[in-house]
Order: sequence, then structure tokens, then C-alpha cells
Amino acid sequence: MIIAERKPLEKILDMVAPFKRICVLGCGTCVTVCMAGGQKEAEELAALISIHRKKENQEGTVEAFTIERQCEYEYIDQVVERLKGYDVIVSLACGVGPQTLVEHVPELRVLPGVNTTSMGYPKEQGVWVERCLGCGDCVLHLTGGICPITRCAKSILNGPCGGSAEGKCELGKDVDCAWHLIHDRLASLGRLGDLAVIQPPKDWSTSHHGGVRTTVREDVKVDRGE
Ligand code: SF4
Ligand code: SF4
Repeated sequence: MIIAERKPLEKILDMVAPFKRICVLGCGTCVTVCMAGGQKEAEELAALISIHRKKENQEGTVEAFTIERQCEYEYIDQVVERLKGYDVIVSLACGVGPQTLVEHVPELRVLPGVNTTSMGYPKEQGVWVERCLGCGDCVLHLTGGICPITRCAKSILNGPCGGSAEGKCELGKDVDCAWHLIHDRLASLGRLGDLAVIQPPKDWSTSHHGGVRTTVREDVKVDRGE
């Protein structure tokens, strides 16, 4: 899932200050699960903005609602006329949501209400950890299911580096060395010999370094006549 956290309230208050009709728009998928931008968070933020504006004697309205996914035209289309009725939308979706909204409906003014941090999973209640950087050429089959791109500070493919000590990364004692984890994992699988195979330099053109990526599946593509 995509993980995000709400921007500081002060920052959001500054962004919405020039506007009168404000919509806080939640997103019903990843940000709902990570408790940053679902209906509950949208209502809470709308209430906080509203209280602040009343205190400051600022005119206007603040409403909140949520759509299933802000990153899909089909869900935006269901509420597009309603969205056009606001001066500004504070999107609580990940960074994809605001961009999809303005690409699909250019007259909308959309502000980011959350900071998108990573792709990962909830390790425990209230704790989310990053697990994938979307490199475009997954190597988990070589590393026992532990991602060295994400979890090694240097994203090296033939680790560990000389900074690894007692299972910890040179970043600090609270950071596991990814390659130590990979070593232990491969040992448990009886595949330590895999570490003797030198991995060639990674082709980073499949990652973000190669520019904006587009995935095309001709077998499921629908001609929209655009
Ligand atoms: S190797 Fe790449 S695609 Fe696979 S988990 Fe790591 S960053 Fe994600
Ligand atoms: S100590 Fe381990 S995790 Fe840290 S940079 Fe070196 S190989 Fe990567």
C-alpha cells in the first residue's frame, strides 16, 4: 500500500487561507488504511479548518467527503460537478490523487493535504514500514524476499558493504543491515551459495531514474477514442 501522513495543520491552514469554499476530499483506499486520508480524517481536518477560520473571522464553508479512489477517472466522474462547486480541494490522497484530479478536470484547484512517504505495510498498529521503491525490475527472487534496493541505504546488489557491523547498518544501531538480513534468510533457506553469484550492475532505466514510467497492457487496453 501507499503510505502517507497528514501535512502539519499550520501548513494546510496557510494553503487554504485565500479560499472561501473549501472541500477536504478523502480517498477510500490506501490512505484510509494508513489512517491519513479516509472519511474520518477528512471530517477531522474539515472541522479543524472550520474552527480555525471561525476564530479568525474568515468567511466561507468547509465540507468533507470521500471517493473510493482519487487516482481513477471513473470515481472522479461520479462527483465532478460537486467538485466544481468548490474554490479549492484539499486532497487527502497520495500524490497521485491530486495529479489525477487536475489532469482529468483542469479547472479544479487542488492542494495536497498529505505527504506521501512510501510503499510499504503496517507492521503493527500505528507503524508503517517502507518495503518497495518501485525499481521496475524486482530482484526479490535473488535475495530471499528481502529488498536490498529499499532496505539497504546504498541499494547495493552485492552486499554487505564495509559499514555493516553486528547486523546493523552503518546508518545507526536502530537500522538493520539489509544484507545481513538477506544472508540470514538465504542461510535459513539453504541457499547461502546464491551469495557467491556476483550480480551485474542493475539497469536503473526501469526505475524512476529513467524518467516517468508508463505501463501498457495491450491485452486489457480499451480504446477511449482520445
Ligand atoms: S527489488 Fe525493486 S520492485 Fe522489488 S521490492 Fe525492491 S524496489 Fe520493489
Ligand atoms: S551496512 Fe548493510 S544496509 Fe547499510 S549500507 Fe551497508 S550493506 Fe547496506
